[in-house]
Amino acid sequence: MTRKARLLIVEDEAAIRNGLVDVFVYHGYEVETAEHGEVGLRMAKGGNFDLILLDVMLPGIDGFEICNRIRQQDRQQPVIMLTAKSSDEDIVQGLTLGADDYVAKPFSVTQLVLRVQAVLRRSGIDEDAAREIHLVNGVVIDSVNLCAGDTAFTRREMDLLLYLCKQADRPVAREELLARVWGYANHMEIETRTVDIHIAKLRRKIEKDPANPQAIVTVRGAGYRLMLQAQ
Ligand code: CA
Repeated sequence: MTRKARLLIVEDEAAIRNGLVDVFVYHGYEVETAEHGEVGLRMAKGGNFDLILLDVMLPGIDGFEICNRIRQQDRQQPVIMLTAKSSDEDIVQGLTLGADDYVAKPFSVTQLVLRVQAVLRRSGIDEDAAREIHLVNGVVIDSVNLCAGDTAFTRREMDLLLYLCKQADRPVAREELLARVWGYANHMEIETRTVDIHIAKLRRKIEKDPANPQAIVTVRGAGYRLMLQAQ
């Protein structure tokens, strides 16, 4: 029997926190909670959790800062932000700090469970994936150690690169990337922007000139295509 996935929920609102505990225990997760930012950060750093659900507005340290500090220690720790704010700016900030996903309050519990399952599924894959990705511009990406030279990638960025790499003979639509890399069954306009934000971040890391991308090209009307070095 496989072990239960361990989840940390950092949320100061008791009603939401208790509701989430009930739902995830029901779905077979082992759940721990924190209601204060600093306690949550301490638990996150020492608890060896499979995934952390992180509220943004917390007493003590806010969720963005917690996410930032978790990332300094462990780039691969899966984190989903729970945000009451749904403006683009907050979502961009959360993703820039390295959250794997965000769910805007009020959220559907069913959808949150699906998102958690999708993130956990992704963090367990890729054993058979290519160790090195050779891009057309000479950049070599180490998909196991999540880096290209001194440049580090988040788990989500690498998942995106690996998916594009496997489909490198064709452009991949943003909707397909949302479904296959993020696990979204349905998407809204704001969520397709999530793909664009991640592509922009990747271009800043792997392109010589991000304004004139050679490695991740935009194919008008079709999506994004990763350009590999000819063998
Ligand atoms: Ca809160």
